[in-house]
Amino acid sequence: MCSGQGKAEMIEIKLEPHGGIRGRCSECRRSAPGYDRLPERRWQFVPLWGIPTYFLYAPRRVECSEHGVIVEHIPWSDGKRPVTYAMMGFLAGWARRLSWRETAQVFQTSWDAVYRSVEWFVQWGLAHRELKHVEAMGVDEIHWGRGLRADNFLTVIYQIDGHCRRLLWVGRRRSQATLRQGLKGLGPEVVQGLRFVCSDMWKPYLQVIAAQAGQALHVLDRFHITTHLNQAVDQVRRAESSRLRESSKARAQRLKHMRWPLLRRGTRVRGRARQKLNALLASKLATARAWELKEIFSHFWKYKSVIWAGAFLDYWSFRAMRSRLEPMQKVARMLRTHEELLLNWFRAKGEISAGVVEGLNNKIRVVTRRSYGFRTYKAMELALYHTLGRLPEPESAHRFC
Ligand SMILES: [Zn+2]
Repeated sequence: MCSGQGKAEMIEIKLEPHGGIRGRCSECRRSAPGYDRLPERRWQFVPLWGIPTYFLYAPRRVECSEHGVIVEHIPWSDGKRPVTYAMMGFLAGWARRLSWRETAQVFQTSWDAVYRSVEWFVQWGLAHRELKHVEAMGVDEIHWGRGLRADNFLTVIYQIDGHCRRLLWVGRRRSQATLRQGLKGLGPEVVQGLRFVCSDMWKPYLQVIAAQAGQALHVLDRFHITTHLNQAVDQVRRAESSRLRESSKARAQRLKHMRWPLLRRGTRVRGRARQKLNALLASKLATARAWELKEIFSHFWKYKSVIWAGAFLDYWSFRAMRSRLEPMQKVARMLRTHEELLLNWFRAKGEISAGVVEGLNNKIRVVTRRSYGFRTYKAMELALYHTLGRLPEPESAHRFC
């Protein structure tokens, strides 16, 4: 132990090879006669009692019959890195619970060491993960960072089976090329084994999915449709609000502070907001009619039969088209165009639970927004796989967390 001013600064553990056991070739792992020894090296080990701890060891070189003179296999490290497997597993484990910066601070190491540990963990996990039995897949786009440039979007592919929900793939941008690249990365076996694919009505995705996973039942996600309806109601409200402000202040007052109550489900609006909402609904305002249309649509999801659901969709579209509210008409046209995909929801009933994709999206946002101190896209990608990929972990002799 080295100490200064009466305080331990680090622990150094000196290791010696067993005299009676020969070293192993680092290529083929077969034992081989010794050749010479290299200078001593240091590897960072898991801190003991909060004190940074190092292994010190002078590696031997062996003479392998196949690989010639070569450094021996080192069981606690891959040879190149100055950090032991145990420490990398330890840092990677904590990097799931704390931000990377905090992890580095708490365990007295660098942000870079945490980054490399997670990278090693994720690469190992991706190489060893099992992709059999992926039957249901969710595809979505996620916004991250600031701005609306193409680079500010991610395409994500999830497994959304009941028995396993995880992030399978993440890539930059949200184009057809991105999705194609992702499906290619998962391999044709996974794509051809799919039974359900769940996505938004976004054309580039629809086309790629139809072309590559035609056998799978394509389901439009309920949460996306609710989002489109909410956006339409909000558009009507905003337009009407500015129209009213120009003519009469008193009437404009009705729409004030109504944005959030209007976006919620009717049964969830209570108290004063409810009173205001009732007053608004009694008025003949366009916003009230738009809200009613949105609220009626929620019945759609309650049907059990495809035929009745189809009939309801016709009825709703008819009302929306007659409403003279352009944003609602637009949603109606969109739903009609994708009627078959929409009805697939009832054909897949019970197999896909509503809101799985939404739930995973929310988890992704927690990671991308939390100040992990990601300096690069690559770091964020690693963090996403690390926290949401359910990756297998390398076995370690030591478990410290
Ligand atoms: Zn060898």
